[in-house]
Amino acid sequence: MKVATEKAHFDVESIRKDFPILSRKVNGYPLVYLDNAATSQTPQQVINSITNYYSQYNSNIHRGVHSLSQEATDAYEQARIKIQKHFNAEKSNEIIFTSGTTHAINLVASGFTSLLEKGDELVVSALEHHSNIVPWQMLCERTGAIMKVIPMNEHGMLDLAEYENLLSEKTKLVFINHVSNALGTVNPVQKIIEKAHAAGAAVLLDGAQAAPHIKADVQALDVDFYVVSAHKMCGPTGVGILYGKEEWLNKLPPYQGGGEMIATVTFEKTTYADLPHKFEAGTPNISGGIAFGDALDYMNTIGFDKIAAYEQELLEYATEKLLKIEGLRIYGVSEEKTAVISFNIGEIHPYDIGTIIDKLGIAVRTGHHCAQPVMDYYKIPGTVRASFAFYNTKAEIDTFVEALEKAKKMLS
Ligand SMILES: *Cc1c(COP(=O)(O)O)cnc(C)c1O
Repeated sequence: MKVATEKAHFDVESIRKDFPILSRKVNGYPLVYLDNAATSQTPQQVINSITNYYSQYNSNIHRGVHSLSQEATDAYEQARIKIQKHFNAEKSNEIIFTSGTTHAINLVASGFTSLLEKGDELVVSALEHHSNIVPWQMLCERTGAIMKVIPMNEHGMLDLAEYENLLSEKTKLVFINHVSNALGTVNPVQKIIEKAHAAGAAVLLDGAQAAPHIKADVQALDVDFYVVSAHKMCGPTGVGILYGKEEWLNKLPPYQGGGEMIATVTFEKTTYADLPHKFEAGTPNISGGIAFGDALDYMNTIGFDKIAAYEQELLEYATEKLLKIEGLRIYGVSEEKTAVISFNIGEIHPYDIGTIIDKLGIAVRTGHHCAQPVMDYYKIPGTVRASFAFYNTKAEIDTFVEALEKAKKMLS
């Protein structure tokens, strides 16, 4: 018998077969999909989950006495438990289904309206996605609370000494991304949470960009709120979750009123349902929630450790190759980062590069990546962002680098 001494083999070719879209052509060329930080592709197992729902047991949940409704309810609640286990939440009622990260952040920001007073302080970082900035600005406008910003440095890392200076007994809430979508920086969230708690502040982590690569343990982190979108981790669009510690979710008022979130309704007074239903008004994205659970199963079967190790290999390979292109500058060179490379080549506008390589079948993101403050820091209008997933290959990176060389020749 052969002893498995060599490095564990990551069978990317067989994984790629799970993703039907990866075998299509774009503009006559095989698709090279490097825009995974915007949305990931969907494996057949998850597509099957959705078609199975609509072809076998489509029905409204939590209401019907009939069999289909019970099957749908069971599957939806099973998905909630899968998600609870994945993020290691203590209880399944701490998992609230939302339409995604943006909805989850708005839910919390709205809830804090009644918990803040004029002059209270919130702390955000310079590295955030707009959806972790704007809802809080709106909260500040409603309450008179003040937002303070942790600055970043040239490497795309947060200034932790400055963070400590910003914290005081006035700080009520700190909200930060676990991983930056613009640069891939993995933030030192454990330290950030400890310092915030020492100051008496709660912490919300925007895990949208971390969750596809890092299996977060909300209890080990001791984080108060953690939010993710399914569509960035092999699931469908339009579904995500808010994890909140039970004590916090009990403190926050309901976000939307409607069916499903009530215990009793009369015109004099309505009483609200218990968690998690208090925050789940109306008919949710049932097939989406179920498919999210199946997407987690899919990724866990491959294994997050293996995924992370393989993606780091892709990141190193791509970084080394890209830096050989003359005039190419990478933004965000934090020691710990996910497989995201944000860059520009000389003075060439990122949009022009993106357009040319699209003609060659290569999908990357160009622009500010919903993180204008990061672009302002570097005084650039945007970057080209290549973001890798576990189904990308080194051969695709070679194709990408050749296409960039071509684009560069055409544009300079
Ligand atoms: C994608 C992303 C969001 C927004 O997610 P939606 O799915 O559009 O709600 C927020 N924060 C980060 C870090 C992201 O990458």
